[in-house]
Amino acid sequence: MKALVYRGPDQRGWEDVPDPVIEQPTDIVVRIDSSTICGTDLHILKGDVPAVKPGTILGHEAVGTVVEKGAAVSTLESGDRVLVSCITSCGRCSSCKKGRYGLCTGGGGWIFGHLIDGLQAEYARVPFADTSVYKVPEELTDEQVLFLADILPTAYEVGVLNGGVQPGDTVAIVGAGPVGLAAIMTAKLYTPGRIIAIDLAESRLAKALEFGADVTINNGTEDAVERVMELTGGLGADVAIEAVGIPATFELCTELVRPGGRIANVGVHSHPVTVHLETLWIRGVTITTGLVDAFTTPQLLKLISNGRLDATPFATHHFPLGETMSAYDTFAAAAETHALKVVLEAEPAAHAPVADEEALVVLA
Ligand code: NAD
Ligand code: ZN
Repeated sequence: MKALVYRGPDQRGWEDVPDPVIEQPTDIVVRIDSSTICGTDLHILKGDVPAVKPGTILGHEAVGTVVEKGAAVSTLESGDRVLVSCITSCGRCSSCKKGRYGLCTGGGGWIFGHLIDGLQAEYARVPFADTSVYKVPEELTDEQVLFLADILPTAYEVGVLNGGVQPGDTVAIVGAGPVGLAAIMTAKLYTPGRIIAIDLAESRLAKALEFGADVTINNGTEDAVERVMELTGGLGADVAIEAVGIPATFELCTELVRPGGRIANVGVHSHPVTVHLETLWIRGVTITTGLVDAFTTPQLLKLISNGRLDATPFATHHFPLGETMSAYDTFAAAAETHALKVVLEAEPAAHAPVADEEALVVLA
């Protein structure tokens, strides 16, 4: 089969590799129908995630069809369409029993495209299948559920829930990339009083308004702290969500949060960050961090099924799976291409989204 293989910093290829096989009785093998690329894959390609060894197939988000199952798999059958999440759960360790699947010590956690071969491929082996994948309801397209594999539960759990967003809160979200935009989308489930999106890129701020932000601040041209103080009567935001992953934006969050407020760090940091306890100690600020557990995936899936949440606006570009190399170029040049998420579709796309309204009419 073909797959996107990491060959060391700045090196990747769409290569012939051996087909995956069942290695454990709890495994399945899926045919990948739709996959996508994450900002984290770009971090890996920069060499920022040394745990990823050259030769690893990248990708940790997909919708696929079960083609083979191990002897111990009891809830899935060949032909089932499943969401394969960035988080795998052994289902048996103490972390998994608490719903902290991201902290799984039994061989799960974030493993795809990290510790084992990933999902930007024609086929993939999925460990601990019974406790890790989600059957996709028949009526939903791949594209409706694909972003449940990472950005939506990440933004919701590590941003909105860790930040304890309450009705009426002023929520400041620093970074309006896919994760920050997903935080805007899922913060709205709690009816905040006001969502403030902060970014350096005007195109991303325009997206933030489309996704439901009430106010945008370009912190390249405006003093973000001053603006937030003006908007909150000098108090600061109730919740600040960091969705960039650099020291400056974390520190910005600590400056624009109110006394007694909460900072939820979502960004993946690769450099040391200063926590100014000399000013924070008296302000009663809570700081949370985390990797997504994906324990809210079933809840988010229900919201999508019921039409309460629509993740399809994240899909800005589509490529055949065989053009994953070009898809990387487009995704990496987001400043010029305005890409949010690129959808990689197997050919023939088994469950392609309905292309346009005319097609909808024909189907109806
Ligand atoms: P992205 O790079 O697409 O978006 C980041 C946004 O931040 C961009 O819009 C950029 O313009 C903006 N930005 C950059 N510097 C800024 C600054 N100084 N001030 C304000 N805005 C600035 O990234 P993404 O895919 O949206 O992901 C965001 C972060 O979340 C990344 O660090 C990613 O690795 C991380 N992440 C964390 C988890 C987790 O489990 N904790 C999971 C997935 C992704
Ligand atoms: Zn576990």
